[in-house]
Amino acid sequence: MDPILERYHALEEKVLAYNPNLDTKLLYSAFQYADSKHSKQMRRDGTPYITHPLAVADIVADLKLDTESLLAALLHDCIEDTDASKEEIARLFGEDVAELVEGVTKLTRIKYASLAEKQMENLRKMLLAMSKDIRVILVKLCDRLHNMRTMQYQTPKKQHEKSLETMEIYAPIAHRLGMAVLKYELEDLSIRYLDPLGYKEIETQLKARFSRHREFLASTQKRIEDRMAQGGIHCTITSRTKHIYSIYWKMYPQHKTLDEIFDLYALRIIVDNVADCYNALGLIHDMFNPVPGRFKDYISTPKPNGYQSLHTTVIGREGIPFEVQIRTWQMHETAEYGIAAHWKYKKGGRNAQGEESTYEWVRKLLESQQDTDAEEFVKSLKVDLFSDEVFVFTPRGEVKGLPAGSTPIDFAYSVHSAIGNQMIGAKINGRLVPFQTQLQNGDIVEIQTSKAAKGPSRDWMTLCKSNEARNKIRQWFKKERRSENIVTGRSSFEAELKRNGYTIDEISAPDVLPRVLKKAQYNSLDDLYAAIGYGGMTSIKAVNRIRGEMAAIAKERREAAAVSDPLAEEPDELQQEMQRHVKTSLPPQPPQKARTISKSGVIVEGIDNCLVKFAKCCSPVPGDPIVGFVTKGYGVSIHRADCPNADPRHRSPEEAGRWVEVRWNNKKEQTEYSTSLEVYAKDRPNLFLDVATALSSAKVRTDTINARGMNDGYATVRVVLSVRDRYELDTVVRKLTTVSGVMSVTRGRG
Ligand code: MN
Repeated sequence: MDPILERYHALEEKVLAYNPNLDTKLLYSAFQYADSKHSKQMRRDGTPYITHPLAVADIVADLKLDTESLLAALLHDCIEDTDASKEEIARLFGEDVAELVEGVTKLTRIKYASLAEKQMENLRKMLLAMSKDIRVILVKLCDRLHNMRTMQYQTPKKQHEKSLETMEIYAPIAHRLGMAVLKYELEDLSIRYLDPLGYKEIETQLKARFSRHREFLASTQKRIEDRMAQGGIHCTITSRTKHIYSIYWKMYPQHKTLDEIFDLYALRIIVDNVADCYNALGLIHDMFNPVPGRFKDYISTPKPNGYQSLHTTVIGREGIPFEVQIRTWQMHETAEYGIAAHWKYKKGGRNAQGEESTYEWVRKLLESQQDTDAEEFVKSLKVDLFSDEVFVFTPRGEVKGLPAGSTPIDFAYSVHSAIGNQMIGAKINGRLVPFQTQLQNGDIVEIQTSKAAKGPSRDWMTLCKSNEARNKIRQWFKKERRSENIVTGRSSFEAELKRNGYTIDEISAPDVLPRVLKKAQYNSLDDLYAAIGYGGMTSIKAVNRIRGEMAAIAKERREAAAVSDPLAEEPDELQQEMQRHVKTSLPPQPPQKARTISKSGVIVEGIDNCLVKFAKCCSPVPGDPIVGFVTKGYGVSIHRADCPNADPRHRSPEEAGRWVEVRWNNKKEQTEYSTSLEVYAKDRPNLFLDVATALSSAKVRTDTINARGMNDGYATVRVVLSVRDRYELDTVVRKLTTVSGVMSVTRGRG
């Protein structure tokens, strides 16, 4: 017989064994359809292309999935690689099968690049979210498994790419779906191509060891079988060697030898009911010495992916440790096939439990994974398969998760508010689209911006879906309008002041401003200006409110001057007038605080009384998390823990030992620490003055301050100042952020 046809018949037989009601005519016609569509294509190994869909269907049959999954497996590459259309497949094999094939095709089209872990997580989420029907991801996993099994025919570059993708995307998905058998094989195949030498070494060692231990394992299994029979426990026992991938991750990064891995061998005891699991465990612990701390009860506390078993490690004869896993048949099914076990073809009709409850089960599984932190994978894999999220790509291949129904507006604002505010156009998959277009999973979204953009329009707030975008648009309107209001309010107020013989400088002096604001009943001058600009207040009224206070201040000053110098003549009116109009570029500094610079205030663990200096790159202040670096001859240099120069990832191995733990001493004698801030703001007249005013109203000592305007209409003001601690510094930062036009205040660098 034709070898291809032979393979088809083997498949049919495999399916008939678990599904006697199989519509063999339908399965055969799908095979024929795929065969004719792929007839001109070859696999890289020289066999006709149809061998691939046949092999994928064979793996789907191993999972005992339903007929639609089998048909989808046979047809899965038709839309992507041939002239077949979804409509034609729907007509011939039904809408559901067509949906499945299209789903697999979409997953195939996702372009993959190695990304940061956070991005990986999003990509896995995207794949799951795109597989609205869980069978799509099941077929896709089988497809990937067969491609990995035949990877030896690919170029080394392709082998590496696909293996990395498998390890980072598909194996974790198989894991979270509880499909251990698939996961192990995917992982072993990928590590084999990613580190051929490391893989080979373990494989060789395992083989050598296993030939020595084969006897031991067989005799141990026999002894246990006898003992279980004596104890009246009906069971099936199998043995296995730990798979290479997990040995790999124990050996190389943790520097362990094969001998130090306790669970290299495992015996699996499958019993009929839960009570017998614990009975069997009792017998095992009676026969062998258990290794302390290795017993785990995953029956009473299942793993997040639904896995249940009892695990214990015991020491056998000859001192060889081995793991014993005890479970029921039902637990075994779930452990091996996970989610697929629940999607299995059931006698008495497809989906005996009904589609809804199947989805319910999936949803519960994934939800339970969200709440637990017991398992390592949970932290990175929080997904709700039916969540209201949509996942799209940036042009650079990063994945963004947005609420379902999001538009390019949401996307733009999720990248940065400036991108949203300057957006003039949007492209999805390279095509220009209207702003209200809803994003689909896997779309590549590109935002076109212009510095000359007029900013968001009001109706964007109804077109966007995310609160983030809506808030940012609202903020823009408030802020834009506020700055306009401040500008007009300020000039009106200034003119009114002038008519009354005062200047803004006088009003803003640090000892005057708080009293004036109190009388005017505003929190800041900007608030007052904004109110005037908006029309909620008139400048005449504002000046009237503060006139009395200004007179009182002038009187106090005269009296103070008289007391400090009783012989001095009262200054005449003209002199007073002149003083009033002297412009100072900087408001007066507050009185200097006492400084005692004797002890740094830092304790270096393990070193007494050493010379300590603060790194210039990040200038830490008490309250900042810090680390120390032992310099060559200049004592210990103290960095902020978040300083790029102290980043553990950038530390060279030979210097690793020089990084030491340090902490702040509460009983420090040094009371002031020099540090710097960078204020980034929209450039405008008096920006510099207002920043300086804010600094002095915060009552900190400013050492230097300089501003640099940039040609794009923004300016950076760099401030070197002395503070007691982080708390004081944070107060300054808060004050500075309220200055009109300030976009950001950050700690200085270098
Ligand atoms: Mn394929």
